[in-house]
Amino acid sequence: DIEIEINGLSKIYETKNSTFQALEDVSLYVKNEEFVSILGPSGCGKSTILRILAGLEEATSGSVKVAGEEVQGPSVKRGMVFQSYTLFPWLTVRENIEFGLKLKGVSPKERKDISDKYLAVVGLERFANSYGKELSGGMKQRVAIARSLANNPEVLLMDEPFGALDAQTKQSMQQLLLDIWKKEKTTIVFITHDIDESIFLSQRIYVMDARPGKIKEEINADLQLF
Ligand code: ADP
Ligand code: ADP
Repeated sequence: DIEIEINGLSKIYETKNSTFQALEDVSLYVKNEEFVSILGPSGCGKSTILRILAGLEEATSGSVKVAGEEVQGPSVKRGMVFQSYTLFPWLTVRENIEFGLKLKGVSPKERKDISDKYLAVVGLERFANSYGKELSGGMKQRVAIARSLANNPEVLLMDEPFGALDAQTKQSMQQLLLDIWKKEKTTIVFITHDIDESIFLSQRIYVMDARPGKIKEEINADLQLF
């Protein structure tokens, strides 16, 4: 039961007077309900892999499949959480969580049930009617996670989601994410440049080389500690 399968992925960025190869022959897989991280230094191409998986960018060559289908453009089936907070400032926490459901035409009653569930999952029941500017960084990331999960995604794609948080908040968010993963059984691809974070969170780690955007090794990190 493979959920994500990338084969021979290359990405060349073309700018006005140069080309830049960001990824070269990347192959990886993620099993259903697995928590995998992609670890590597800044600029090695981690975000590029995630953006291609998300359908936000096109591969130059290679195959990228999620749930057996070639990725073509973005979809709420692939939930995304970025480092920088992407809440809609004019919407409340609850409205942010319900945003994608509203677009899909889910009824108000069902939307409320779903947002109630995920407000509880991330522990933000008391902040349902708050706006982003009233929330701390960690709380905003909780909303971003709840908003992704509310769409019942096949996979959750996370690009350094805790990179901007202070150490203590980061630690509690990591624990929260692990708890959610165990309970919700979401398939997660998590990008980080922090080796401790990748070991703490994930079952398997793909380690990337700085140049030229290649996977160097695969580490089994399932320490069975929890
Ligand atoms: P990481 O996430 O590991 O920091 P990225 O995937 O963001 O790395 O970037 C990989 C490399 O590709 C970097 O050298 C970056 O400057 C380059 N790059 C990323 N996006 C573009 C783009 N749109 N055009 C040109 N180069 C890019
Ligand atoms: P971060 O350092 O936060 O990972 P990124 O490297 O992902 O930032 O870059 C943020 C945005 O800038 C992305 O949309 C990426 O495509 C674009 N970008 C990154 N490097 C370049 C580049 N060399 N030329 C053009 N766009 C780039």
